[in-house]
Amino acid sequence: MAKPVCEFFEGCPYFKNSLLQEFPIMLEARQEVYCFKDKKSCARYQVRTQLGPGGVPDDLLPSATDRAQRLLAKKGQNTEEDEPS
Ligand code: SF4
Repeated sequence: MAKPVCEFFEGCPYFKNSLLQEFPIMLEARQEVYCFKDKKSCARYQVRTQLGPGGVPDDLLPSATDRAQRLLAKKGQNTEEDEPS
């Protein structure tokens, strides 16, 4: 079996909690696209690397890059508000 390119693969909650467990062919297809080939296109990876493990909602789909961008933008706004003027 090929080695995943994503360093978060072993502990990634998405594949453990996902309904995809009931659809192993779809599960493997998503892993092939994101975890084994192109982690940087994964919404979960994008949020995980910038906000840490606590910033990734359990239900965030790897394909949900729009939602990832909103989460990152929201965090950026909160950070600016937290900074002293
Ligand atoms: S779903 Fe995304 S964060 Fe999780 S292991 Fe795959 S590439 Fe990494």
